[in-house]
Amino acid sequence: MQYPQLSINLDTIESNAVNMVKSCKDYGIKPVGVTKLLLGAPELAQAMVAGGIEILGDARLKNLARYQHLTADKMLIRLPSFSEVDEVVALADISLNSESTVLCALSEAAVKANKQHRVVLMHDLGDLREGCFDEDETLWLAELVLSLPNLELIGLGSNLACYGGVAPSADNQNQLVALAEKIESKYNIKLSVISGASSAGLTLMLDKEMPSQVNQLRLGASVIMGIGLNDEPVPHTQQDAIHLHAELIEIKHKPSVPTLSTALDAFGNTPEFVDRGIRCRGLCAIGRQDVDIDQIIPSDSRITVVGGSSDHLILDLTDCESDYQIGSVVTFELGYGGVLQCATSEFVHKSYVRG
Ligand SMILES: *Cc1c(COP(=O)(O)O)cnc(C)c1O
Repeated sequence: MQYPQLSINLDTIESNAVNMVKSCKDYGIKPVGVTKLLLGAPELAQAMVAGGIEILGDARLKNLARYQHLTADKMLIRLPSFSEVDEVVALADISLNSESTVLCALSEAAVKANKQHRVVLMHDLGDLREGCFDEDETLWLAELVLSLPNLELIGLGSNLACYGGVAPSADNQNQLVALAEKIESKYNIKLSVISGASSAGLTLMLDKEMPSQVNQLRLGASVIMGIGLNDEPVPHTQQDAIHLHAELIEIKHKPSVPTLSTALDAFGNTPEFVDRGIRCRGLCAIGRQDVDIDQIIPSDSRITVVGGSSDHLILDLTDCESDYQIGSVVTFELGYGGVLQCATSEFVHKSYVRG
């Protein structure tokens, strides 16, 4: 085994996918499996597909490129950049859009590649990240997409609870549905997709308050980590698919207050200390270059995280019952940001486990 190690249980993720597909089906919703949390790992994408997910989505083209061999439809869930429309058409069947300049370029790229590219227009319901805020602009963009060769307007979408802390609600979801219906009647078309929200929309759905016309949710965190709105556990999912393992490289008894602390720490902050006497401290070979200290929680509740620097994590092992030694492996639970950081760090080994 190599450490630090991010251990990813594919059976747990597959079972979460099965349960999310089933839960959503009761409400006429098909989930898109969002893979960005693990950088589009093909093992993850495969587990989602095995769990019944038919569309895979990611925010980054580089991640989508990692599972091109899978037959599932691929959706680019971050707005395409103007400079990469050719790659978008090559790697994604569907993209989420809100800019006319990019739509025109996408159309040209699709014509050049002799491909049809499907478009979901993003409308901003108040969370203030992507999407047109103005309904007339979304209506106008719909007309534009309908006029552009090799683009197919398949739906309307929105993102919530990512920047502005706006939770998906019956009100904002109904507003999206009403706008979709306006587009349908104005241009005499049928939109096959209303993509209401991310995992944050599951609460509304399970509370039976999601309008029935919303038929797609884009699910990443709920399938991978079993969490949704406000990072709370999602019913019918498991939260323990992912763990971080790090190795102890030093164990020493030391005072809890430094000897004459006058300088700043490695990150330019003034450190503060509580005198708890002599403590047993363990050093792990992982640091803030890999993960923020506040994103990790030791699975052994008797361990406390004291602090860290770029390459080191300092733990207090004094109250532990288990016998930690040099070379022992300490296990941590991670927050969403922690999983993302560990997945991104090239120094953290990834291991995909079953069972
Ligand atoms: C990240 C993202 C999602 C998935 O969010 P989760 O909270 O992981 O379910 C859905 N849609 C968009 C546009 C995103 O950027």
